[in-house]
Amino acid sequence: MTRDLRPETLVARAGVATDPSHRGVSPPLHLASTFGWRDPEEKPAFDYSRSGNPTRSELGRALADLEGASVGIVTASGMAAVDLPLNLVSPGDLVIAPHDCYGGTFRLLSAHARRGDFRVEFVNQTDASALARALAKRPKLVFIETPSNPLLRITDIAAAAAAARAAGAVVVADNTFLSPALQQPLSLGCDVVVHSTTKYINGHSDVVGGAVLIRDRSLGDELAWWANCRGVTGAPFDSYMTLRGLRTLFPRIERQQETAGAVARALSADDRVAKVYYPGLASHPGHELARRQQSGFGAMLSVEFADGVDALGVLRALEIFTIAESLGGFESLVCTPATMTHAAMTPEARRLAGISDRLVRFSIGLEHPHDLIRDIFAALDSVAAPSPGRVACLRKWDEAHAC
Ligand code: PLP
Repeated sequence: MTRDLRPETLVARAGVATDPSHRGVSPPLHLASTFGWRDPEEKPAFDYSRSGNPTRSELGRALADLEGASVGIVTASGMAAVDLPLNLVSPGDLVIAPHDCYGGTFRLLSAHARRGDFRVEFVNQTDASALARALAKRPKLVFIETPSNPLLRITDIAAAAAAARAAGAVVVADNTFLSPALQQPLSLGCDVVVHSTTKYINGHSDVVGGAVLIRDRSLGDELAWWANCRGVTGAPFDSYMTLRGLRTLFPRIERQQETAGAVARALSADDRVAKVYYPGLASHPGHELARRQQSGFGAMLSVEFADGVDALGVLRALEIFTIAESLGGFESLVCTPATMTHAAMTPEARRLAGISDRLVRFSIGLEHPHDLIRDIFAALDSVAAPSPGRVACLRKWDEAHAC
């Protein structure tokens, strides 16, 4: 594939018509764990599937092209992807991460630090002076996660990456929440991008996987060496499925974010909802920054209901949304981060990150926006009296969409 193709074309064509045996239009799935050598002194391109596999390398190449990376490493999970760059740090080194990073990342970094593998400091990276104070301690590695999970805070990637690199750190961005379709952190100065491909990249909630995309070849080769050494590379079947999901990434996420915007606007107009966290709303503190550094606002949103509204009762009354962890699939999900995705954080860490026990997070899927909005309002109606604002809003929506 040539580099000057548009990303939509790159993903639609990834691996297509590359089968040399039968000219299959969709690429074959290579399940072999080991590959024959013609001669004991002539190492083939692929010799053993932990080290390299044709199906996995097709996915790695497509993701590297999308993120503008030199090297793409496909891992067995998003957590394996987050863990891989940690091979670059040694005991005594400092790692900086967002104070509201994904709960599993918080648990991983805290566990490593407790064992003395390195030191870790969690910082509110949207606060430039807090970040500057942390960078003055000369960290070896800085993690960025924007939009953050679950409060959708937006960090200025270019500014944070420039400051972190000036402090001598390797900068790693978790781009799971937007995918390369909506944000490219390497072009904004990061060294490494990690993904839970479980989410938007696969998009069908049937594979757990991850990826590490590295800008510079030498750093990429070092991390690829560690991925093989530690045995964290992804399975061929998972790679095949993920490549299949990746082809529809753009239309999926574009439609999902359009619906997320409609849901966010509808909920904002209801006085039983105290706060809506969605970067696409002009009232969101990161709105202007998100507009500049992202090519869309994404399909994740969180809400806090008003005092007296039974949030768990709303969740239990929802009929379309499934109560489940994860995000980015074709189906809409809802969760309470305090008891689900972020349960691995201590209550104190959650308090510092602003994650209240009442916060509810929605991952918006491909269902019709009208049905999703109605589902939320019906669930709200079952626990609290509807407000006139809600009725007007729904009527406006019905009129605009003739449904
Ligand atoms: N990073 C982010 C932002 C996530 O939301 C998740 C999972 O929810 C992960 C990393 C971990 O990915 P996985 O569950 O594929 O291991």
